[in-house]
Amino acid sequence: MEIRMVDLQGQYQNIKGEMDKAIQNVINDSAFIKGKYVKSFKENLEKYLQVKHVIPCGNGTDALQLALMAMDYEKGSEVITSSFTFVATVEVICLLGLKPVFVDIDPQTFNLDARLIEQAITEKTKCILPVHLFGQAADMSAIMELASRRKIHVIEDTAQAISATYIHDNTSSYCGTIGDIGTLSFFPSKNLGCYGDGGAVLTNNDDLAYKMNLYANHGSLKKYYYESIGINSRLDGMQAAILDVKLRHLDTYVSQRQKAAALYDELLKETSQVITPHRIEAGNHVFHQYTIRIHDHRDKITAAFKEKGIPFGIYYPEPLHKQGIYTKFARDTTALPETDRACKEVLSLPMHTELTAEMQGFVCDTIKNTLQDC
Ligand SMILES: *Cc1c(COP(=O)(O)O)cnc(C)c1O
Repeated sequence: MEIRMVDLQGQYQNIKGEMDKAIQNVINDSAFIKGKYVKSFKENLEKYLQVKHVIPCGNGTDALQLALMAMDYEKGSEVITSSFTFVATVEVICLLGLKPVFVDIDPQTFNLDARLIEQAITEKTKCILPVHLFGQAADMSAIMELASRRKIHVIEDTAQAISATYIHDNTSSYCGTIGDIGTLSFFPSKNLGCYGDGGAVLTNNDDLAYKMNLYANHGSLKKYYYESIGINSRLDGMQAAILDVKLRHLDTYVSQRQKAAALYDELLKETSQVITPHRIEAGNHVFHQYTIRIHDHRDKITAAFKEKGIPFGIYYPEPLHKQGIYTKFARDTTALPETDRACKEVLSLPMHTELTAEMQGFVCDTIKNTLQDC
């Protein structure tokens, strides 16, 4: 039995007719840059996410960069974020001459612990940048309350959580549409992935939308006339057409992931050494990753996985505040014990839309048999 961490080939085979036609249309029209396929996807995603502006761009890292560029913060301004994330979140903060300030995570959700944010705020703090890690919302009600009281912005890194919902102010909203700006990645393995690189920024604010659109297009809205310095960050027509096809299936994909997650829960529920993913009450979990925690013997399980050809992920093996240039930014008074502990204990199991009960049984039997011998 071949088990994949992510099965993009299997997913493609199920929509091959639709997908091949969409790709052929782009070639027939030579609509490679900008054009009608990008416009169509942008509008369909605005409708789906119920957000005023979707601005497609080159990738999820650019989306974060565009979001921070639009804020126009003075150099040295502080952005509060997590050290338990993909490097892009923190990289762009540093790249723009801003200062990341790391706050520890909640051990149950792996997201920023909102109770620790306020004490990290100084007069230089301009923004909180929560990551909706693994497909579930950060504690947005607490974050939004704090941000509005302290008059700072919120940028949501939603790369892993497209279509995850969250109940805020008694209404259910999609992650990425609650703060000032949300950012998305369409990297192939993300829940809505294209066949290359892609990303987008989301906002309900017209002024921020104007700026991000401007910055993504060389600071120019009229060809060869420049209002500001920008970057070149575009979503290809081909990727947009691919995403438009997959967007029609997104709700099905999400429910397939949730179904697989529920089966993992069931199969692992009697294995006391394994902590299965916590679900928050205020929103749903779209399972970009199904990440378990094991206090001891993670190395024995990964060894057994390797032996049996079961793929796995460790997201993330080393926190950013302990690595390279990023250590410079970690305030020496700040210990992040939960972040450190999570890095040692997390294990992400195969998760995609094509998993079968048989595959999941094999994965969980391997875990159980390994732990039995410990
Ligand atoms: C994938 C990811 C990104 C970056 O997206 P790219 O499209 O690869 O640039 C940013 N933040 C998080 C949390 C991610 O998982």
